[in-house]
Amino acid sequence: LGWYAENARDLPWRREVTPYRVWISEIMLQQTRVEAVKGYFARFIGALPGPAELAAVDERELLKLWEGLGYYSRARNLRKAARVIMETYGGELPASHEALLTLPGVGPYTAGAVASIAFGLPEPAVDGNVLRVLSRLTADNSDIADPAVKRAAERTVRGIIPAGRAGAFNQALMELGATVCIPNGAPRCDDCPIQLLCEGFHRGNAAVLPLRAAKKARRVENRTVLVVRCGQLVGLRQRPKKGLLAGLWELPSLDGHLSPDELRAALTEMGWSVRKLLSLRPAKHIFTHVEWHMNGVYVELDAPAPALTFVTPAELRDAYALPSAFRSFVSVLED
Ligand code: SF4
Repeated sequence: LGWYAENARDLPWRREVTPYRVWISEIMLQQTRVEAVKGYFARFIGALPGPAELAAVDERELLKLWEGLGYYSRARNLRKAARVIMETYGGELPASHEALLTLPGVGPYTAGAVASIAFGLPEPAVDGNVLRVLSRLTADNSDIADPAVKRAAERTVRGIIPAGRAGAFNQALMELGATVCIPNGAPRCDDCPIQLLCEGFHRGNAAVLPLRAAKKARRVENRTVLVVRCGQLVGLRQRPKKGLLAGLWELPSLDGHLSPDELRAALTEMGWSVRKLLSLRPAKHIFTHVEWHMNGVYVELDAPAPALTFVTPAELRDAYALPSAFRSFVSVLED
């Protein structure tokens, strides 16, 4: 706690601690780096300062605020949860770990973080940083991807939370993992306030911990992504309601890497009147389980293609949230 008091990073969501701000920041920080979240957090809180505004926001504006953060179901769950907060809890996040756990998108970690940081409740908040610190501190070889190991870590932390200091204690453990006991084999033990207590340090195996079962290789999908222009307009389509990037707008694409002749034939068959095709620089995008290897093609049409929605480049920029997988292709429209 002493180390944390002196070394806590100055982060926007720590400057003013409210249950809403802690919740939004914790959801944004899942799967996303602190540096990347800072700007998003300020923009989001500026536009939607509380549960009432979040519950009422329309989906397109919500996704626009989230554009580029990825894992868009997090944003949709935030709005669902805000509606529950308005309808069931009178517009305030509930000050109870069990009640927080019932909100859409809130798991044990987020419920623990909000309960302890915003309400001072003695609940653990065990994320990847805390698991890493604990596994090195106790020189524990268990696989941290195993849910039973995580539950055991939660029990451990619950048992050592100092009275009245749950929020600072949880944040201290996380901060230690994020800034000193850092991942990928390189803990900065010389700067660590708990080096004396650390079994991994004394045994010399801290750097190889924590252990984690090997992940399955990602599936690679080849796609031909189209930047479709018809006059000044750009053609978009909406993804299916389920699956990867569910319901988001996207640049149209076809399976596989098609040659110009194959592509022209496929588009003509779909009823598109193609005037011109130009190859763009290929790009790659990595999702959790899939990797897209994308060849880009600029397609000029004589008439709007069926099944696409046509918007101006300004509308695309200001009102439509396009997943970052397409970012490099959209840059050709910025002239
Ligand atoms: Fe992590 Fe090293 Fe500190 Fe142990 S001494 S907790 S391995 S930084």
